[in-house]
Amino acid sequence: MLVSHDPDLPLHLYPPKQPLQVEVLRNERLTPEDSAQDVRHVVIRWPSGSFFFVEGQSVGIAPPGLNSRGRPHPPRLYSVASARSGEDSDGQTLALTVKRYVYADENGQQCQGLSSSLLCDAQPGDLLPMTGPVGRDLLLGNAPQPLILIATGTGIAPFRSFVQQLQRTADPRPVWLFQGAQTQADLLYAAEWQRWQSDADGRHWRTACSREQQLPSGGRRYVQHALADEARALWPLLAPDADQARQAQIYLCGLRGMEQGVLEALGEMAAEHGLQAEAYVSDLRSSGRLRVEVY
Ligand code: NAP
Repeated sequence: MLVSHDPDLPLHLYPPKQPLQVEVLRNERLTPEDSAQDVRHVVIRWPSGSFFFVEGQSVGIAPPGLNSRGRPHPPRLYSVASARSGEDSDGQTLALTVKRYVYADENGQQCQGLSSSLLCDAQPGDLLPMTGPVGRDLLLGNAPQPLILIATGTGIAPFRSFVQQLQRTADPRPVWLFQGAQTQADLLYAAEWQRWQSDADGRHWRTACSREQQLPSGGRRYVQHALADEARALWPLLAPDADQARQAQIYLCGLRGMEQGVLEALGEMAAEHGLQAEAYVSDLRSSGRLRVEVY
C-alpha cells in the first residue's frame, strides 16, 4: 500500500483544465425515498488504464457552465468510496457518496448545489468531467495496526474504500467503525457494515442516530458518544504505552463540528487514565496517529 510521501502516489493526473470524461454506470439512492436526505451511490467508469487512485483520495466533478464572474465552476471534491481495484473490481470504476445539497438563497428561495445535483440526477450513460485524484493526508497506512474510523454522514465514503481494500487484500487488522447519522434509516451502507461485521472477528460497527437517540442529559447522541461508550474496549488501542503493533490509527471524516467532540472524548479517556487530555490529543496528532478530514 502507498503512504503519503510515496513518489508513486497518483496525484493530479487530470487537472481542472484537462478533466477526464467519465461515464455514469449506476446511480442508486442510499437513503429511503421518504428521508429528508437524498444521498446517492454513483458509480462511474473511465477508459481502461486512464486513471488510478488509492483509498482515502478524492476526485473532482465540475458542473458545466460559467459562474457569475464568467469563469468555469471549480470542481467539487468527493471522496472515493471504492478500493483502488475498482467498485466493480475491474480497475476502471469508482463510487462516490453524494448528498443533494439544498439551501436557501438570500431571497429565501430554495436552491440546489450544482455539483451535487449534477451527480444525484445523473443517468447511466451520462458523461461527466472528472479531475484528480487529490489527497495525501487520509491514506490507509501500511502498518498492520488496528484502525478506529469515525464518520458523520457522507464522511463514511473514504472508510468504505478502506474496508473494501482490507477485505480484498485479506488484511486481518482489527477495525472499529463509528458512524453517525440523523436516523437509523440514514445510516449509509448499513447492510454492508452489518455483513462485514458478522463475517469475521475484530470488526466492530457502532452507530449514533442523533434524531432518534437522546443522552441522559437530554442532548442528541452523536458519534463521539458512541466512541465514549466503548472507552473500556478502546483504551488498550489508544494508550500511549501500548505495544506499537496494538496502537490504533485514528481517522475522522465528516462534519467540521464533530472534530471537537471527538477530540474531547479521546481526551477524557486519557484523563481517566491519569494523562493530561490536551497533551495526549496533541501527541496523537503530531505522531500521525490521528488524521482528520472535516468540512
Ligand atoms: P449530516 O447528515 O448533516 O450529519 C450527520 C450526523 O452528524 C447527524 O447525525 C448530525 O446530527 C451529526 N452532527 C451534527 N453536528 C455534530 C457534531 N458537532 N458532532 C458530531 N456529530 C454531529 O452530514 P452530511 O450532510 O452528510 O455531512 C457530512 C460532511 O462530510 C459534509 O461536511 C461533507 O462535506 C463531508 N464529507 C463528504 C464526503 C463525500 O465524499 N461526500 C467526503 C468527506 C467528507 P444532527 O443533524 O441531528 O445535529
